[in-house]
Amino acid sequence: MNALIIGGGLGGLFTGAILAKEGLKVTIIEKNATVGGGLQSFTRFGEVFDTGMHVIGGMQRGGNIRRICDFLGIMDKVQIADLDSDFTDELYFAEDGKRYRLAKGREGFVNTLARQFPHQRQELKNYVDAVYRLTNEVDIFFLRPTDSHIPVHSSEFMMAADAFVTKYITDSKLRSVVAYMNPLYSGRADMTPAYVHAIITSLYIDGQSRFVGGSYRFAETLSNFITSQGSTIIKGDGVEHVHSADGLISGVTTKKGHTLYADYYICAIHPCNFMKLLDDPTILPKAYRNRLDSIPNSYSAFTLNLKLKPNSFPYLNHSGYYMTRYDDIWNFGRSDRKWPLGFLYMTPPEEKQGPYSTKMIVTSPMLWDNVQKWENTTVGNRGKDYIVWKQKCAEKLLDQMEQMYPNFRDCVEQINMASPLTIRDYYGVKEGAMCGFSKDYKNILLSQVPVVTKVKNLLLTGQCNNLHGFCGVPLTAINTCEAILGRNYVINKL
Ligand SMILES: Cc1cc2nc3c(=O)[nH]c(=O)nc-3n(C[C@H](O)[C@H](O)[C@H](O)COP(=O)(O)OP(=O)(O)OC[C@H]3O[C@@H](n4cnc5c(N)ncnc54)[C@H](O)[C@@H]3O)c2cc1C
Repeated sequence: MNALIIGGGLGGLFTGAILAKEGLKVTIIEKNATVGGGLQSFTRFGEVFDTGMHVIGGMQRGGNIRRICDFLGIMDKVQIADLDSDFTDELYFAEDGKRYRLAKGREGFVNTLARQFPHQRQELKNYVDAVYRLTNEVDIFFLRPTDSHIPVHSSEFMMAADAFVTKYITDSKLRSVVAYMNPLYSGRADMTPAYVHAIITSLYIDGQSRFVGGSYRFAETLSNFITSQGSTIIKGDGVEHVHSADGLISGVTTKKGHTLYADYYICAIHPCNFMKLLDDPTILPKAYRNRLDSIPNSYSAFTLNLKLKPNSFPYLNHSGYYMTRYDDIWNFGRSDRKWPLGFLYMTPPEEKQGPYSTKMIVTSPMLWDNVQKWENTTVGNRGKDYIVWKQKCAEKLLDQMEQMYPNFRDCVEQINMASPLTIRDYYGVKEGAMCGFSKDYKNILLSQVPVVTKVKNLLLTGQCNNLHGFCGVPLTAINTCEAILGRNYVINKL
């Protein structure tokens, strides 16, 4: 049996690795010169910068993604660094200049916050218990086998994330503090389901890691594993046409004109972009196509990749979050707010990491509307006004950095900037969406796209199906593989 995977990003590589390990002949087609998608890194000013995988969960001992890596036998080649247990995150709120330091683990999380909100200790405990209760409702997250019944969830699972926080925490500032990770999952007020908030929050409470020396190394490890199993990866040649006959996918043709055939075809790119490649879109029901096109996308991001002057800024073994106002914590997705509302900053670890960092990545959520006027331009040809706009954005972020670290600009040697357009063109993601489709608790079914389709030999994988990110996409890869190999086939082996 053989499978052809369109897209060599996180989802395509994990799906390909699992299928290859199980004896399928896999061909992955990746449009870019290097595989990885969100795992890709690039070199600028002599430094390696990661594009879309800065903080990862599930790689602690016993963690779900680590167990998949163990199953593939690649863990000895993976280099990660865990963040400090007693100081994993620091949040800064510009509104009152307060800093909050968080420690790893359930107790650490409660204790560090209870120091600043002593009257909320019991509420914090109850909130964290509820977060873990909701997470426990998701079998795949724990790599537990499932039966064939449709899962039944608690009413809290399906409520809005902001309402869920409000239910447990009465202090208005603390409500915003515990929601600080929501830019990581594209959180929106009265929209994001509580279970998304719970999964990401518990994941990062359990422990966060970073790739050492660049996330591209992890993509290389997966890609070497796939080829070592006798499978193939084609790079630098995207799929341009998907052919069909008799209600099945019958082949794909690449930009360079190669036509390839397989038993199974797996779409590991944004499903809306995939539909544009179909010679005959009617192979998928109209209602399905309309539904996919109508799902709103998560917001995008503007990133500063900074080369720092030698010995000027300390290496931070924690992630930092800047937030303008407490009240705006759920408003990153609103177009009536002044950008930037906040950002994540981090200093990526090197192999022989010393006390100083040579680089920093600053990522701030940004709506597609901000770049829409340049949407028909291509990399390097977006015009002078775009360059001026990017520089203004960079200055705004640097101003905010200086509120936390006075004279921070003195530490910066070189600046590279990436906008939502960069993300769209680099990954081929609709509207540069950071997390694929946006999820809405009011209509959960709309954004839950199954990995199987009405076309028997067409499957989907990647961040648009379930959860995005390092801890979501590999789990969906298991679902996709099991659609071929059989229910619980992979799970039972992990
Ligand atoms: C700025 C940013 C920061 C992020 N930070 C984090 C983080 O810290 N932690 C975390 O867990 N997640 C993070 N994410 C999210 C994470 O990167 C994504 O959820 C993940 O990469 C999605 O995996 P995927 O396989 O669905 O898509 P991708 O990884 O984007 O892979 C899709 C691949 O398909 C290729 N492709 C597209 N069209 C074609 C075609 N026609 N033919 C062939 N190939 C094609 C693309 O080039 C790409 O390689 C971040 C995302 C962004 C944008």
